[in-house]
Amino acid sequence: MLGRDHALSGAVAFAALATSLHVTESYLAAGVVLTAGAGVLPDIDHPDSTIARSFGFLTEWFAWVVNRLSGGHRHGTHSLLGIAVFTAGAYGAGLFQLSGSKTIASGHLAFSWHIVPAILVLALLYSSALRALRIGGHYSDLLGIAAALATCFTGADLTQLTVGSWHVPLLAAATGLGCAAHIAGDELTHGGCPVLWPVSMHEFHLLPRPLQFTTAKLAETWIIFPLLLVGLAVAVWHATGHPLVIPQPSK
Ligand SMILES: [Zn+2]
Repeated sequence: MLGRDHALSGAVAFAALATSLHVTESYLAAGVVLTAGAGVLPDIDHPDSTIARSFGFLTEWFAWVVNRLSGGHRHGTHSLLGIAVFTAGAYGAGLFQLSGSKTIASGHLAFSWHIVPAILVLALLYSSALRALRIGGHYSDLLGIAAALATCFTGADLTQLTVGSWHVPLLAAATGLGCAAHIAGDELTHGGCPVLWPVSMHEFHLLPRPLQFTTAKLAETWIIFPLLLVGLAVAVWHATGHPLVIPQPSK
């Protein structure tokens, strides 16, 4: 699947679940964009992917390391273990931020090393979402960094979302959801994903063979992409409090 469609699928997933996650409207935009960024995160195992090129040689080097550690492209980062590692990383960055958040709570914008991991994760997710969706042009990375700073200093990334009986910070929830959407997307293609890596290398698919498509071919451009756009519009409409079905007037 193309980076653009992976990002859109992450955005759709967050917007579709926003009501059940009890996301208030002010956090909806941040959640949608962060999940779009996390939607391209598993491809950090490929040095030529959108996300690997987001911050030049820094992210290219990181992608090279991830590629080696995860057994190559579409292996470890495209598995349940990969989702768990990415989510734990985002959760850990949030915990570290929280441990030094006295200055944020008191309303003073002061630098603390405790915010650095969270800002790096946020900047990576925002910038790769903007790049994948081709928003902001040459300024997409700057916009991503600005959004990361604003999110971190307001503590918006630590907002607790209700997932069943758990409370999960926005950043960790967006990361887990985006990675899951990515893997589901690749499972619609002929390639599939080794979900149980490293236990098994079996490639899992969500569709029977005749319905699977090849990345960047006609089916993705003319069916998947328009469906994702419509899905996003409908999900955001619903998440902002509009009913999906117009109630019939009672007689
Ligand atoms: Zn992928």
